[in-house]
Amino acid sequence: MAFQFEILKKDLFSKARLGRIETEHGSFSTPAFLPVGTQGTVKSLTPEELVEVGVEAILGNAYHLYLRPGHGTIERLGGLHTFIHWDRPILTDSGGYQIFSLAKLRKISEDGVTFQSHIDGSLHFLTPEKVVEIQRTLGSDIAMVLDECIPYPSPYEYTKASTSLTTRWAKKSLEQKQETDPALFAIVQGGMYQDLREQSAQALVKMDFQGYAIGGVSVGEPKSLMRSVLEWTTPFLPENVPRYLMGVGTPEDILDAVMFGIDLFDCVLPTRNARNGMLFTSIGKMSIKQAQYAEDERPIDETCACYTCRHYSRAYLRHLYLANEILSPRLNTIHNLYYYMNFIKITQEAIREGRLLDFYKSRGLYFNGRPPLSPSPSRGEGEGGGDKAISCAIRL
Ligand SMILES: [Zn+2]
Repeated sequence: MAFQFEILKKDLFSKARLGRIETEHGSFSTPAFLPVGTQGTVKSLTPEELVEVGVEAILGNAYHLYLRPGHGTIERLGGLHTFIHWDRPILTDSGGYQIFSLAKLRKISEDGVTFQSHIDGSLHFLTPEKVVEIQRTLGSDIAMVLDECIPYPSPYEYTKASTSLTTRWAKKSLEQKQETDPALFAIVQGGMYQDLREQSAQALVKMDFQGYAIGGVSVGEPKSLMRSVLEWTTPFLPENVPRYLMGVGTPEDILDAVMFGIDLFDCVLPTRNARNGMLFTSIGKMSIKQAQYAEDERPIDETCACYTCRHYSRAYLRHLYLANEILSPRLNTIHNLYYYMNFIKITQEAIREGRLLDFYKSRGLYFNGRPPLSPSPSRGEGEGGGDKAISCAIRL
C-alpha cells in the first residue's frame, strides 16, 4: 500500500493526535518513537528482539549507508529491508545532519555539499537530487530531504541564508521524486529565530510534501528554546500529514511535543544510555554501575514486564556492566527500548481515551517534584544535562 496518514483521534485539550501511518511495509501507530539504526542495526538487538519490545518502525541513515557498505551494494543484495532482515517500515534520515557534524572539509554550494568521508577521508559530492536517489535505492519507506543543520548559536544572517538554501534544496528534492519513491518529508529549519522558522515552514508547506520534520533542534539550545521552536513552527504545518521532531528526546520532551501535535520521534537516548549503563525506570533514571546494586536481587524496575526485568537482577546487570560483557548492552537496551515503547503506548492510550492532559499533569508532577534514583549522568555520557536540550550529536 502506498504511503498514507490517517488521524484517528484528536485530543480536546491540546494539539495531540492519535494516528496511523501506512507504508508498503505495513503500518504503525502515531505518536511513534523510532529507535535509531544508523548503520542498518539498532545496536546490539536482532529484529525479533525489536518486535518483542514493541518497535513498529526504525530509522536508518542514508549518509552512513551510502558511505558503507554503499547503497548500490545494498540494492544488489535486495534492498535495505532484506539486507538487514527488517520487514517493517524504515525511515531514512538524509544525512544532512551527519555531513555537517561528522564529515571533514565541508564545502557548501548552491548545488550541494562536498565533504570528506569521516571513515576513510575519500571525497564526496552530494546533491539534494542524489540524496533522494540514494534513499530510493535503499528502498526506504520514508525519505528525508537534504538540509543544512544549523549549529547553535548562529547569527541571524547566516541562519537566514542557510534556511533559504535548505528550502531551494527541498524544491529540487521534490522535483527529483518519482511516483514509486518513498514518501518524502521536508525539514523545517530557521534556527532559533521565529520569523525564519515561520518563513521556512510556509515555503515548504506550499510545496506539498508528504510529511514535515522540524530540524535544527536538540543542538544544545536551552529546553525553553526547543519549546519556542515548536510554538513558532507547528501552527504553520498542515493537519493532515505527519509531523516529525528530529533527534528528540527524553520521555518528557516527547510528551511535550506530542501536546504540540508532533507524531514522530527518533533519538539514540534509550539505546546509547543503555550501553552506558543508564536505565530508565518508572521512578527515575538508574545508573546500574553503582555499588548500592551489588547484591540487589530486584529487577531494574519492578513494574516493568520486559525480558530483562523478568529474568535478571540489578546485581547481575551491574556485574555484566562492570565486567564489560557483551550481554550487558543487549539486556540494558532491551529494557530501555521497552520503557520507551511502553511510554509511547501509554501516551497513545491516553489520547484515545481522552485523558492525555491528566497523564501529562501526572508526568509533569513527577518530573518536577521527585529526584531521580541516581544523580544525572555527566554531559559526556550524552544526556545534555540540566536545562539544555540533548546534543544533536546523539542522532549519530
Ligand atoms: Zn525492564
